[in-house]
Amino acid sequence: MFMQTTFSIAFFFLASLGIEAKIIETRHIEDVIPLIDNETWLLVDLDNCMFEGAQALGHANWFYDELQKRTQKGMNREEAIADAYPGWIKTQKVCKVKPLENSFVPTLLMQQNQGITIMGLTHRQPSVANSTVHQVGSLGFNFLTTAPSKESFVVPAKTPTLYFQGILFVGDYNKKIDIFEPFLSIIKMTPRKIVFIDDKRKNVEELESLTKYGIEYIGVHYTAIEHAKPVYVREVAEFQSKYLDQIMSNEAAILLMENGLE
Ligand SMILES: [Mg+2]
Repeated sequence: MFMQTTFSIAFFFLASLGIEAKIIETRHIEDVIPLIDNETWLLVDLDNCMFEGAQALGHANWFYDELQKRTQKGMNREEAIADAYPGWIKTQKVCKVKPLENSFVPTLLMQQNQGITIMGLTHRQPSVANSTVHQVGSLGFNFLTTAPSKESFVVPAKTPTLYFQGILFVGDYNKKIDIFEPFLSIIKMTPRKIVFIDDKRKNVEELESLTKYGIEYIGVHYTAIEHAKPVYVREVAEFQSKYLDQIMSNEAAILLMENGLE
């Protein structure tokens, strides 16, 4: 009875403070700036949000297609991920990335300069953590600068997770909210407000439940990838994968050099 009353009072209190969650949709990172005040944490998804693969092989859409090929053969989602992941790990070691909007990283840097807490929140697995940090670094960004914690640690879950270099790797098998909540408990911090940007609507919707901790929440469903010229083409990726492990012949190298290609 006491608990129930306490909860009721808590809910009334939060409601009266106007703690709320909302979702907005935009293709422009600039629209996120007015949502941020100096008590806000900005959470940033990586694939198809902060960046996309610069080539077909290793692009997130390549990985999704690899999963689809496997589920069409009768694997369930978990089996498909496990089967496709070695290929993902291998490609991410060499896969270059590029921003979807040129202003994305400068916007994050501007927020960091103002001391805003920023961290990465990705479904990527810990096995690609080093490659991921390298990819983020190639864009001239380092989450560690204003991350909520400088430490590295695992958030206990059924499948591997890792918080590393200011990026929370929740893995493909976990929901982002199910790892982010215990992450907050581990670092013993509760931000007043969170803005989370992700290209998948279901991901931004999951974090709406943060309001139960009195955290004001704005989910940004970021749609730039839907307007971008497609980088992933299955046939191109298949051709690129043929050459992933091969040394190029002199003839091919000279031909490419003569045509000014790297
Ligand atoms: Mg994404």
